[in-house]
This record gives sequence, C-alpha cells and structure tokens, in this order.
Amino acid sequence: MADFMKLEQQFAFEVYPKRELVLTRGEGAAVWDDRGNEYIDCTAGIGVASVGHANPAVAEAIEKQARVLVTCPGIFYNDVRAALMAKLAEITPPNLNRVFLCNSGTEATEAAIKFARWSTGRQKIVSLMRGFHGRTLGALSATFKYRDEFEPLIPGHGFVPLNDVEKLDQALDEDTACLILELVQGEGGVRPAQIEYVRRARELCTERGVLLVIDEIQTGFGRCGAMFACELYGVQPDMMTLAKALGGGVPIGAVMCSDTIRSAAGKHGSTFGGNPLACAAAIAAVRYIEEHDLAGSARENGAYFRELIERSQSSVIREVRQSGLMIGIELKQRVKPYLIELMAEGVLALPAGPTVIRLLPPLTIPRDRIECVAAALGRVLGER
Ligand code: PLP
Repeated sequence: MADFMKLEQQFAFEVYPKRELVLTRGEGAAVWDDRGNEYIDCTAGIGVASVGHANPAVAEAIEKQARVLVTCPGIFYNDVRAALMAKLAEITPPNLNRVFLCNSGTEATEAAIKFARWSTGRQKIVSLMRGFHGRTLGALSATFKYRDEFEPLIPGHGFVPLNDVEKLDQALDEDTACLILELVQGEGGVRPAQIEYVRRARELCTERGVLLVIDEIQTGFGRCGAMFACELYGVQPDMMTLAKALGGGVPIGAVMCSDTIRSAAGKHGSTFGGNPLACAAAIAAVRYIEEHDLAGSARENGAYFRELIERSQSSVIREVRQSGLMIGIELKQRVKPYLIELMAEGVLALPAGPTVIRLLPPLTIPRDRIECVAAALGRVLGER
C-alpha cells in the first residue's frame, strides 16, 4: 500500500499541524484509517459533517446532480440554486430574504465585509477578541489570532472583549460599517456570548446605523440545539454568514442579507459560488437536518454529553462549556498530549486554543458512542 503520509509530507505545501493518521472512509459518526482502525469522530471535519459522514441522502443528491449539471455560473439562473436560496430564506430569521452563495466560511466573511462597507459607505469593522471569521486577508482582519505576520490588514479595525457592553458602546461609532460576532466562539474556546450582551449589541447597532453580522458558520444548522444560535438569543442580524455543515461535506458558503443591505450588482461574485452540485448537496443536508430534528438531538445529547463529562470530576478539568453539541472542556494544562492519548483510545477531538478540548461530533452521533467518548475522556483525563 502507498505510504500516503509520506506522499503528503513530500508534496503538500505545509500549513497544517498534522496528526499521524490517514483517514480514508467515514460513516455516520465513525471514520476509519488506511489500516482499518475505527475512530469516533468528534471533529466532524471541523464542524462540517453534522449529518454524518457519507450520509446516504447527501450522497444520492450529489450523484444525481453530477449526472445533470455540475457548474452554472451566477450570470445564469438555475433550478437547484433557486430552490436552495428559497430554503435558506425559509429557515433563517424572517428579515433575511436575500442570499449570496460562495464556497467557504472565509469567503462568506469577505462578502459580508464588502456588503457592509458598500451598503453603509463606512469603513470600520468591529469584531471580538478571540473571534474567528476566516483566514483570507479581509476575514483575517476581523479574526483575533493568526494575523501578526500578515499585517497590515484592512485599516480601521477594532477588537472588543466578549460580553463587555461598555467597550462595545465605545467602539461602535459613525465610521463603523459592521459588528461581526459569533454567538458561541468556536476556535476561541467554545465561549458563549451572554444574551443581554447580544441584545444590547443589536440595539446599539440599530441606533448607530451599524450592521450586525452574526457568524453562524460553526454554530448554524442545529449545532447549538436550534437551527441557528440566534434563535436562542431572540436576535435578528442584518447579515448572517454560513458555511461548514450547510453542504453536508461539500464546500459551500452563504451570506444571508436583510432588505436593508444595498444591492451590490456587478460589485462582487464567484465562479463557483452557487454551483448546482454544492446546492444539491446543501438542499439534501438541510432537509436531513430538519426531517431528523438534528437540532433537537444536539440539544438533548449535548446536555447528556456534558453531564457525563462533568460526572467524571477529573482534577485536570477547569470548566466545561457547552451549547448543544458544541462542547469545550477547558483544562488546567495544555491539551495537545490529551488529544494524542484520545486518538489512541479511538476518539478524534479538536483543540480550541492551547487549553481547551473541543468536541464537534456529527449531530447524528448515537448515545452509546457519546458514552464511549465520555469513558475515553474519563480514562485520559483521569477520574478522581
Ligand atoms: N467563521 C467561523 C466561526 C469558523 O469557525 C470558521 C472556520 O473554522 C470560519 C469562519 C472560516 O471558515 P472556512 O474555514 O470555511 O473558511
């Protein structure tokens, strides 16, 4: 058998810190390596495979669409794209009626920044410390980490601390085009925003003509126990950015816009954005999430998962933070060795910063698999 690890090491332009694992197959919440070893996947492709790996409904939609029409640029109308847009308008907050389709989360952020500047005629963007919105230069300007080596980024950017209304009040001024925030910071350590903070942010934005952009790229499509986390906060953004789970594993991103966003005809675009293949996969994934009430599963199983983790009372755990099936276990120590030990136990998990283990399993994960992960965590983190 070819040594795929060696091949990637030889040919990949290095950007990722790698794990010693070659994944070749997935089904539901399980993935297998090239030697046939099985793992419970609490990474889900970093929050992508919410409907499970190799979901039959998504596979069938991809196969069917691949035989009909794969590419169709935005300059033409398309049946599948139209259907996806209507579906997204139906399931997102009622004020979000327009959709821009792209191919990833960072592209959704880029588009939202451009639409905000174009729509308001203002330059400044405000986002949150520990926030993550993507790695291309515009999105990186709104991202708190990974930026130093790439400055200067877009000028006039301000960061404010999460859940600090006073600092937000000071930062939003007449030059501010938009405020971008995650309702539960994912990469930043699974940190939920407080309801009062988000509601006040909405009021301040409205008062000052600042557009509120909510990044639901990680929190959306049932992950936090509602179709979108903003439902849990009772807040409607002016724009919502989407990606990850939207395509059931196929790359796709979207910006949902309210009628207050000025049309940007001829000012933005993407060759692949809204291609029928990704749209067909997304329709199948979204339907699956709805029909199987995966938001409800995330709500119930997330609470159960948390209870099991807390029951272990490990002395290295500082705090468990959880919103649906987005779970952060903050440790008193660095997480890297624990992630490696978990892998040896057959569990794949993510870091979120140096001291947080992040679990983002498929929303279809069965309870017995949750119990296996909790038991593995208990062994690795040491029960008291
Ligand atoms: N926004 C959030 C909240 C994310 O979690 C991510 C990716 O992790 C992004 C944006 C960027 O998405 P992508 O990696 O598809 O560019």
